[in-house]
Amino acid sequence: MPATRLMPSEEASDLIALTRDIVAKELAPKVAQIEASGEFPREVFRTLGRAGLLSLPYPEEFGGGGQPYEVYLQVLEEIAAVSASVGVGVSVHALSCFGLFTAGTDEQRKQWLPEMLSGEQLGAYCLSEAHAGSDPAAMRTRAVRDGDSYVLNGAKAWTTHGGKADFYKVMARTSDDGGRGISCFLVPADTPGLTADHPEQKMGLMGSTTATMLFDDVRIPAERRLGDEGQGLPIALAGLDSGRLGIAAVATGLAQGALDAAIAYAKDRQTFGKAIIDHQGLGFVLADMSAAVESARATYLAAARMKDAGQKFSRQASIAKLVCTDNAMKVTTDAVQVFGGAGYTRDFPVERYMREAKVMQIFEGTNQIQRLVIARDLAR
Ligand SMILES: Cc1cc2nc3c(=O)[nH]c(=O)nc-3n(C[C@H](O)[C@H](O)[C@H](O)COP(=O)(O)OP(=O)(O)OC[C@H]3O[C@@H](n4cnc5c(N)ncnc54)[C@H](O)[C@@H]3O)c2cc1C
Repeated sequence: MPATRLMPSEEASDLIALTRDIVAKELAPKVAQIEASGEFPREVFRTLGRAGLLSLPYPEEFGGGGQPYEVYLQVLEEIAAVSASVGVGVSVHALSCFGLFTAGTDEQRKQWLPEMLSGEQLGAYCLSEAHAGSDPAAMRTRAVRDGDSYVLNGAKAWTTHGGKADFYKVMARTSDDGGRGISCFLVPADTPGLTADHPEQKMGLMGSTTATMLFDDVRIPAERRLGDEGQGLPIALAGLDSGRLGIAAVATGLAQGALDAAIAYAKDRQTFGKAIIDHQGLGFVLADMSAAVESARATYLAAARMKDAGQKFSRQASIAKLVCTDNAMKVTTDAVQVFGGAGYTRDFPVERYMREAKVMQIFEGTNQIQRLVIARDLAR
């Protein structure tokens, strides 16, 4: 049963219908195979890009869809309800374009943004390092100015699309001044010296490649720096506010997918002479799952509407990430329970949903870090 949505315009309703159609035809038939084999579904991103679904929240003058964030997030949710791996990819791509859009000069935007938003190019976002995940200000990767260039050396861990992306938004240290000594760069994938380490062997999201990117004397023109020297961490963190809403929507889509599967199974499976959904004890589990999905959606939409209205939304983004991902963990775990023994096998997708939900509580800032952001804002 698809989620019931109240969209702000007819165009937005059409976008939801278009997304459902594309993911049903182009993605749903391939998901089990993609997740079993771990192959990266690059072609799916091209299909989404050509349909304009990789660039929805960006202005039309740069080739974007000119849609409010509340619309983009609901489209993203529809994609993630079918494939969390691809949903995460779409969200990471949007995050990778964010720095250029917000901190780039007009010239930089005109030069690079259209091809990044066209969908032919896929982005990646390099903030974390092996020893600096929750605390990115501890990063060590360096960018040293050399005439009209910067030369980058170091390693950026956990890069989603690492080795598969066409461009990398990279945060690197340009001085030893802690969080104020970091700058942001846009690095093309084919720059000499840039390589991907072997992909991480993960618990889930097999269709989303994650790898450490290695920088060995990677020389890029100085014009590829976004914003001023030292502005890299604020650019990265501002992007994360929006990115966290992306992950909140992905987690909600994942939870919706698990709920749909659980309802279908509970209507079909019989015990004690009736469908298990008609046993009140099990029906109430499904009712709680439904309440968790709907309240998660309402939470991320409330934050998105604040962003769309130009208001501060950092605390609300962290609340949405926290609520939506914790709800997704609970809903996907309960979905396994609804399936009984069958839920614990790979014959049904619910065990995969549960594995995929776990990482939502970890990346784009762990849920402990979300609480830190919320508490700091309350203390202000
Ligand atoms: C599949 C996957 C994809 C990813 N994709 C990307 C990507 O594309 N780009 C990117 O830059 N990064 C990416 N990451 C990295 C991710 O953002 C980090 O893993 C995350 O921020 C946590 O950092 P860490 O793993 O170093 O954990 P740590 O920072 O070592 O944290 C370990 C534990 O300590 C807790 N903790 C740490 N500090 C505090 C504190 N102050 N108070 C309370 N608890 C605390 C954490 O919540 C966690 O439970 C990805 C990670 C994964 C797993």
